Amino acid sequence: DYPVYSRIDGPVVMIGFGSIGKGTWPLIERHFEYDADRFIVIEPDAGQHNFLRQHKLNFVDVALTPENYREVLGGLFPEGRGFCVNLSVDTSSLDIMRFCREIGVLYIDTVVEPWAGYYFGTEDNAARTNYALRQAVRDEKAANPGGPTAVSCCGANPGMVSWFVKEALLMLARDTGRDVEVPAERAGWARLMQSLGVKGVHIAERDTQARHQPRPRGAFVNTWSVEGFIAEGFQPAELGWGTHETWFPENGHRQARGCKAAIWLERPGAITRVHSWCPTPGPQFGFLVTHNEAISISDYYTVGSGDHPEYRPTCHYAYHPCDDAVLSLHEMFGSGRQQARHHILTADEIVEGGDELGVLLFGHERNALWFGSRLSNAEARDLAPYQNATGLQVTSAVLAGMVWALENPNAGIVETDEMDHARCLAVQRPYLGPVEAHYTDWTPLTDRWEHFPEDIDESDPWLFRNVLAS
Ligand code: NAD
Repeated sequence: DYPVYSRIDGPVVMIGFGSIGKGTWPLIERHFEYDADRFIVIEPDAGQHNFLRQHKLNFVDVALTPENYREVLGGLFPEGRGFCVNLSVDTSSLDIMRFCREIGVLYIDTVVEPWAGYYFGTEDNAARTNYALRQAVRDEKAANPGGPTAVSCCGANPGMVSWFVKEALLMLARDTGRDVEVPAERAGWARLMQSLGVKGVHIAERDTQARHQPRPRGAFVNTWSVEGFIAEGFQPAELGWGTHETWFPENGHRQARGCKAAIWLERPGAITRVHSWCPTPGPQFGFLVTHNEAISISDYYTVGSGDHPEYRPTCHYAYHPCDDAVLSLHEMFGSGRQQARHHILTADEIVEGGDELGVLLFGHERNALWFGSRLSNAEARDLAPYQNATGLQVTSAVLAGMVWALENPNAGIVETDEMDHARCLAVQRPYLGPVEAHYTDWTPLTDRWEHFPEDIDESDPWLFRNVLAS
């Protein structure tokens, strides 16, 4: 009974068959018509090859590098059509998307990934920011507008959460008695957010998935790419910087060029804590891990331009990963070295919990609104194979992005903020479990421990100064 959305002409090349690739494949199989003989995986990890063989999937055992990617991909797309689905680590999204557009192939990824070595290879923290990575893609878009569609950063977050922001804005407008039309372009959305008095957005996530076995010491355990999480966790903390902020962090840095929507802190994101809120735990600490959407959302909803725009929301990730990952981070940062063993929790070993991932729009007349997906692992397992709840939130966004790209094949380079959120969510929603809205009267100044003085400003609870935990 699954809808088949489109036909894909030519090869479908999936780069990387890790937790996300393996979960995306059955959704592609389910929802597209294509020549199955022309589905080809690029996967250098021998640990994945048995699965690929057993499922009779074609694969190429090679790691893409700056030296070989044109030749490898050029060989797999001989006639200049098809779809490249990049779900790997250590490959340059920018180079691969540029090449795909050059040869007329549609492209999608879930992160602006750099080539291997980027995350740890330089002492220059400004160069290691997601701002720098994103700006390079924005520069490419500006230099080469239009042309074959390449969807940048279309996972759960970055990705789906940008569609949630729009849905939440429309809901907030309705719930505050405003009669608004759905904006047709960026400026209208930015004006809508401004007019609703939204000061900012947390990408507020609580992952409660757990297995029976306690986390073994010396192993990094997570619900998605360990490598990806360690890499982003070691990047500087970063956030879109809103116009309502009255204070500037001592270790903060502004950006010199580009959209200048974000700032970064001289500290790794995965040990920078923020006060945030999700429906299940209520108030909680999240980590201020840098993410593309923190920058893209702040940029997209900016009213005005230059160094002093009229309006811009603050936006950042407030991530509480699964408890085993929190312990893994604690061990890793405390010891000063990465664990040698990595493990991604599979849907079958997880015995409880799910992933609660949404957007918390704050500072408006209803105080704060969380809107998001509360998908349990048990439900995810019923919906699609080979993935846990975290994975399904990501892979179903990839599916939605692919459907959109096939329906809009000449849209050029786009971020998810720039796509039709209603269409994408319509495709994705069957895989998200309960998608819910929760208003809360919680603010970052509620539920604090009052025995020690803190550097806060009570004149506006939603200042980043109050959100950042001391
Ligand atoms: P994973 O670590 O499980 O798998 C990554 C895969 O990439 C591995 O199979 C690995 O062998 C392959 N790979 C490594 N180097 C390669 C190379 N040079 N060429 C080709 N393949 C190579 O990671 P995952 O959990 O599947 O995540 C995949 C990507 O998706 C990561 O970049 C991650 O950051 C991203 N992601 C995004 C979101 C989101 O919501 N936007 C969520 C989860 C993951």
